[in-house]
Amino acid sequence: MGTITCPGGHTFADAQGPSRILYWVIPDVDLDAIAKDMATKHQGSEDPGTDAAFEVTSRGFPTYKCPVCGRILVFHKGLDGPADSFVPEQGQ
Ligand SMILES: [Zn+2]
Repeated sequence: MGTITCPGGHTFADAQGPSRILYWVIPDVDLDAIAKDMATKHQGSEDPGTDAAFEVTSRGFPTYKCPVCGRILVFHKGLDGPADSFVPEQGQ
């Protein structure tokens, strides 16, 4: 398990299982291919839910929401690479 530090200085553990701070971002241009693979590549699978999750997590960008300040950190090059950070608007 690793840790993630947001630009606000908050450190938190990366997710090892289902998490409310981890999201998967999929570019719209990749969505059709992923959906087709879910429908065809894993046809007859005994565990279609796990296979669908694999397609999303292996092809989407891991994205975290800092549990302290709400920044969104998008890791376009995997968790070992830098993240693009987005700060939520105030008063929204
Ligand atoms: Zn933060």
